Amino acid sequence: MNRLLSVFYPRKCPYCSKPLKYDMTECLVCRTEFPKVPRIEALPTGEICIAPFTYNGAIRKAICDYKFRGKKFNAYSLAGAVAASIRNVYYKDMGFEIITCVPMSKDRKYERGFNQSELIARYTAEQLDKPFENLLYRDSGAALQHEMTYTERISGNDRTFHIISPEKVRGRKLLVIDDIMTTGMTLSRCSTVLKEYGAERVFCASVAISKEYDAHNRIQSSG
Ligand SMILES: [Zn+2]
Repeated sequence: MNRLLSVFYPRKCPYCSKPLKYDMTECLVCRTEFPKVPRIEALPTGEICIAPFTYNGAIRKAICDYKFRGKKFNAYSLAGAVAASIRNVYYKDMGFEIITCVPMSKDRKYERGFNQSELIARYTAEQLDKPFENLLYRDSGAALQHEMTYTERISGNDRTFHIISPEKVRGRKLLVIDDIMTTGMTLSRCSTVLKEYGAERVFCASVAISKEYDAHNRIQSSG
């Protein structure tokens, strides 16, 4: 697949833990179980978010092992699925120029050692042959998403995200990548800031969409 992959050894399938040969990023059995069609959701601010997976079962395990247990190799497979979804839905007509990610605050990044969305966005960019750039940063003082309730998150309109280099945003078509979309508000806020700084269009993608999002939107649509 590429030279970076060879630093991870021995390699195990992120979803079932079977040992992997050659440059495989997941075993063939798990790969055949990937959904054939990506999910396409509308964010609260109207942008489209595509995602290969729903956040449950083996996908949840692979993401948690990656985020919390240092299994960075898993990011290759997850990014591969994101790249495939993007090719499937966006590639031909959207023509985005830069891929970026939902930023993590400095404090948080120091705590975890890396931004999980950034690594996935970088690998996705590599596979799509597009440039990756960090275009946004996040206030350290802002409350962490997982420490807020669903209602707090969805009603929040604080100024959490800011632009690093306005000249890279103005007039550009951009793709923002997150790891898990829970309410869509994080991606919406990132998109809003990018548009305020003149981005021509903003597209979004995530690895997985949470069950919480599905439950909430089922209630909304049935009520
Ligand atoms: Zn497997």
